[in-house]
Amino acid sequence: MYFCIRMENLNFIASQLIKWYKKNQRDLPWRNIQDPYKIWVSEIILQQTRVVQGLEYYNRFTGRFPDVKSLAEADEQEVLKYWQGLGYYSRARNLHFAAKTIMNEYNGEFPKDYNKVLKLKGIGGYTAAAITSFAWDMPYPVVDGNVFRFLSRLFAVDEPIDTGKGKKDFTKLAGGLMDKSHAGLFNQAIMEFGALQCIPASPDCSACPFEIVCLAHAWHSIAHYPVKSHKTKTKDLYFYYFHIHDSDSLYINRRSEKGIWQNLFEFPLIESEEPLDFEQLSRTAQFREWFQGENTDFKLIIENRKHVLSHRVLYASFYEVALEKLPETPDKFTKIKSGEIDNYPVHRLMQYYLEEKLNT
Ligand code: SF4
Repeated sequence: MYFCIRMENLNFIASQLIKWYKKNQRDLPWRNIQDPYKIWVSEIILQQTRVVQGLEYYNRFTGRFPDVKSLAEADEQEVLKYWQGLGYYSRARNLHFAAKTIMNEYNGEFPKDYNKVLKLKGIGGYTAAAITSFAWDMPYPVVDGNVFRFLSRLFAVDEPIDTGKGKKDFTKLAGGLMDKSHAGLFNQAIMEFGALQCIPASPDCSACPFEIVCLAHAWHSIAHYPVKSHKTKTKDLYFYYFHIHDSDSLYINRRSEKGIWQNLFEFPLIESEEPLDFEQLSRTAQFREWFQGENTDFKLIIENRKHVLSHRVLYASFYEVALEKLPETPDKFTKIKSGEIDNYPVHRLMQYYLEEKLNT
């Protein structure tokens, strides 16, 4: 039998969620704490990784930078090093920048005001809601991917979740369900419920407290929700890296362009919007400039390693170029001792290559 949820019974959802959460929540270090700094760090880490991997990064990061002050006073290179492997380095740079803002504008005290939190660099509506509700029980609903999925199924919402209107509608819906006297607890409960119970594929609806009121379940259309507009366009890019070295040293380069990998180090790179075979690569101006007149061997170590970013799909190839003697820093590259590469923050693709090399 199926029961329709009446508006006056919406409290039922909040109370069931909280009851479920108290019984099923995972024991995580950023739970049941009121420290806005640590909540903030955990939320930023969890935006880009799963809880199991995020845990290690969280412990490492907060171990080295336990509060706003220690983060604000750190050198950016060190912050990026602690972020290495998580990707989306702009998030680490924003954390660092915002920590300095808190030191300068709020005397190191995290601002206890939703709009001030929202103004900090890198903090959007979702993170501001998480920080202010978890730390101070302020009634701002959090709507992450897990919440979208659960609500869209429970109410069979056909509004796409990846549009401005969709985000607004779901935030309003979550706000309407919220137990305002326990905002932090409610928000954590609804997020955890989506993460553990109303999972993307084949949720166990027979064990769900909402089985008899869930519209998607009643209509056998769970897989249809959440609906997406698929408007985000991705662009393919082809990266050709050259690990140029002699027995002692190698070249690296700091990415200066704005973007997610700004200030990270990598090997000399030729970028292309089209895939290039070696013949085409060797005719590019950069290649001729770097390897002009050299009688050089190019060893293809990795070919077309796919790396997906939010609006780009990268295909990276790595060539190893072993020289007798590395000339002094040509162009903009830095010559470093090969063994020192671990001291430099590198992005995920470089890390992948270095790990592969270590294993060969
Ligand atoms: S009944 Fe199934 S689909 Fe509906 S909320 Fe529960 S777990 Fe999700």
